[in-house]
Amino acid sequence: MAWLKHTYATQLPSSLYSVQAPWPVSDPQMALYNEALAHELGIAEHLKDTEKALAYLSGNETVPGSQAISQAYAGHQFGHFTRLGDGRAVLLGEVETPQGLYDLQLKGAGLTPYSRRGDGRATFYSMLREHLISEAMHALHVPTSRSLAVVKTGDRVYRERIHEGAVLTRVAASHIRVGTFEYARFLGKDGDLKDLLDYTIQRHYPEYSGHPNPALALLKAVMHKQNDLIVNWLRVGFIHGVMNTDNMSIPGETIDYGPCAFMNAYHPRTVFSSIDTQGRYAFAKQPSIAYWNLGVFANALLPLIDEDEEAAAAKAKAVLDEFPELFSKAYFEMMGHKLGIVHQTEADRELVETVMDLLAKKKVDYTNFFTALRRDGALINELRQEEAFEAWYSTWEKARSRGGASLSESEALMAQNNPVVIPRNHRVEEVLAAAVEGDLRPFHAFMDKLAAPYDDGLPLQAVPAGFDDRYQTFCGT
Ligand code: AMP
Ligand code: MG
Repeated sequence: MAWLKHTYATQLPSSLYSVQAPWPVSDPQMALYNEALAHELGIAEHLKDTEKALAYLSGNETVPGSQAISQAYAGHQFGHFTRLGDGRAVLLGEVETPQGLYDLQLKGAGLTPYSRRGDGRATFYSMLREHLISEAMHALHVPTSRSLAVVKTGDRVYRERIHEGAVLTRVAASHIRVGTFEYARFLGKDGDLKDLLDYTIQRHYPEYSGHPNPALALLKAVMHKQNDLIVNWLRVGFIHGVMNTDNMSIPGETIDYGPCAFMNAYHPRTVFSSIDTQGRYAFAKQPSIAYWNLGVFANALLPLIDEDEEAAAAKAKAVLDEFPELFSKAYFEMMGHKLGIVHQTEADRELVETVMDLLAKKKVDYTNFFTALRRDGALINELRQEEAFEAWYSTWEKARSRGGASLSESEALMAQNNPVVIPRNHRVEEVLAAAVEGDLRPFHAFMDKLAAPYDDGLPLQAVPAGFDDRYQTFCGT
């Protein structure tokens, strides 16, 4: 029975994709299978035969009635326009759920017409890393692509050294990116852009299907989604690492877990990606980069916003001009929640800025600080020895009880917004190192903790001094 849909391939012009089956692998072995997600998607039944599941999710066998494709896209990478596309991924098809369609994509599935100089494959290490971090993000309540499975291929992958290969089954609301619109506008055929707009609105923002200016409505909707996403990243200390426009999803999910990492010691300029030498994608730069990316999105949409070029630019600018205030309002509200301030006022902005400066100066652990603050832990007693912090603390106490808010109300707000556990860099590397050596037990034990990150029974995570100073992450491994 055919259980995958193919709306992308059937409703969009063929210039936006290539028919491309996954390449077979030598000796597939299921390393991780996310059965809960299979149930959520309603496809557990189709995958319950483990032999079949392995054949489908390694790319060795076609899902009955389906035809895989690779998607074309472009993107601004570190500010420069480039022709891209799924260089190592194929879209098996879409799963229909009550929440809408979800893409089922094999990442690391072999060469495609968009592979350029790459080998189309992925290492077991990096697919495990994506599985761990994307599932952790989901548990942290951050919109994200998910991971249904990681299959070891039995084939070697050559990077700086020899690795085991793997294929990850990625689940996403879609893989439509800002870069897909850039492709349709600048590298596609006449009409591609309009077709992509119609498809995107129908799939992700059907409420705007009758809108007098759907392109402008889409720009605004995507701006709001991205704003929410970035504010969530800042809430949990996530650094995406490579916010190129091809990695910015139109449905507003975190996608493309390459050089991402979590920040331990708070500093706005924190960066881990080995290639981001200028700190373009540093922790606190993420909102302004999202804004820049939205500008690229607007530019791609211009011909659909208004036939008159100048009028189109003016309309797009009017939407984009709302971003700084939109972000700052959402950011301070979120930080106010982290601080347990139930009834917020403008004055809290200074309270937030003051404490962030103090944390940056003292390199205090971002995650542990907020949990310690709620639990009145040792970390807070230590900080209160300092006059500047003690002054901040008494202002904070007044702010959180403002308007008669009770302590328990304030604490509940903090508990909901401040995770106790996050994927700490040293732990991630520890469990991945064991996993590639064949022992997945530490990986599973860590995943279990990460599945309930707001669990108040958990102790604070200790971080080895100096680890992050040397820590580097890498793209596309
Ligand atoms: P990323 O850094 O993962 O966003 O990838 C940027 C571009 O490089 C995308 O078009 C990827 O499909 C492509 N890419 C990354 N790794 C490989 C690989 N091993 N083989 C072919 N293409 C790749
Ligand atoms: Mg990418």
